[in-house]
Amino acid sequence: MAQPTYTTHAGMVDILPDDVRKWQFLEELIREEAHRFNFEEIRTPIMEQTELIVRGLGQLTDIVSKEIFAFSRGDDNYVLRPELTAPVVRAYIEHHLDQRGGSQKLYYIGPMFRAERPQKGRQRQFHQFGVEIIGSSDAVADAEVIAFMIHIYNRIGIKNTRLKLNSIGDPESREAYKNALKSHLKPHFDKLSDVSKKRFEKNPLRILDSKEEEDRPFIESAPLITDYLSQESKAHYDRVKQYLGDLDISFEEDPYLVRGMDYYTQTAFELISPDLGAQDALAGGGRYDLLVEEIGGQPTPAVGFAAGMERLMIACEELDIPLGTEKHVDLYVVTLGDQARRWGLSSLRQFRNRGISATMDYMGRSMKAQMKDANRENAHYALIVGDNELRENRFTLRNMKESDEQQLSLDEIIVILKNSLTGQKES
Ligand code: AMP
Repeated sequence: MAQPTYTTHAGMVDILPDDVRKWQFLEELIREEAHRFNFEEIRTPIMEQTELIVRGLGQLTDIVSKEIFAFSRGDDNYVLRPELTAPVVRAYIEHHLDQRGGSQKLYYIGPMFRAERPQKGRQRQFHQFGVEIIGSSDAVADAEVIAFMIHIYNRIGIKNTRLKLNSIGDPESREAYKNALKSHLKPHFDKLSDVSKKRFEKNPLRILDSKEEEDRPFIESAPLITDYLSQESKAHYDRVKQYLGDLDISFEEDPYLVRGMDYYTQTAFELISPDLGAQDALAGGGRYDLLVEEIGGQPTPAVGFAAGMERLMIACEELDIPLGTEKHVDLYVVTLGDQARRWGLSSLRQFRNRGISATMDYMGRSMKAQMKDANRENAHYALIVGDNELRENRFTLRNMKESDEQQLSLDEIIVILKNSLTGQKES
């Protein structure tokens, strides 16, 4: 095959029709479950102001310092959204969603953009679904967010996951811990990786997340953040664990778990799957009690998570979980001759108006070729019409699976097709 002149950018992927059906199946399941948990969908623009993302996520995070797609036009600076927590919080503030009363329970599904090195499970345009509960500091909200996340994977059939849990405390706890961590690392500074050296002053917590071999020994012997939690942070963390226990959600405490954005406080978690390979995080999230204020709102506690759709898809493939149905159409109208073709074209509208999906040949093919095409399209029925059928007003309806044929009036055909539709829905 000839090389195409144009291709997608590295790390940006076309989702073709056979895969879109799987995506739609998962998206519908997520929406259905989100509504069951009483989350409402929110949709924000693909582009945000660069300043929002920088302020929201933190100047020194990998995402902001290395991975954002940003450009300017006139006086405006645009960034393709790398995540949705900061944009959702922006929308919450901009539209005074607090005035709707209570805490806001929001969910989203959509594309995100990060200029990362593409590999399996890591793309430059990828998709996330996620939820945010804005306005509650109660550990019940943390537990509900985690319960929703686990529930989605369980419903899909992905059960061999591991939930890692940590608390990175409130700012005071974190400050105390940062100092302890720095004192621990300082004598070994020269032996740290270059990335960790850079993080040492400004973002020492992220050193815990280092994948560099030379940092390992110092991370393993580092003090634990859980030993530095204030009374209040510890009490919150204990309640989260208690509620998860009540919900029979098992978790592993990981005192080294820190997340990639600066906005996290208190609870942090990640859901890991052994079926994913190197990029093993299905989803991650936590509390971000300071973000609303950081980007210009009133102090408002919040908690949420984001999950990768592509990684969900990979896990489903690894586990052979069937997603959705094969391509199919209820009816293929096979026509012979000009008159029949005209009749066929108008008949399509009658079928479609009655909820029956219908198509026909657009290429003037022979009857044999049309029947073959009906098979390829996975049509459940074929309606065959030629001059004789038009004269007698009776048509041949072929059940493609059972290969039996009947001569019927159009009304009778519609009844059979509608019954077969109800049958499909019930089965
Ligand atoms: P984060 O927003 O970084 O907390 O990521 C949440 C989830 O989004 C991760 O656990 C992944 O499943 C997914 N994710 C993050 N970055 C990427 C990426 N570049 N490509 C594919 N999935 C991603």
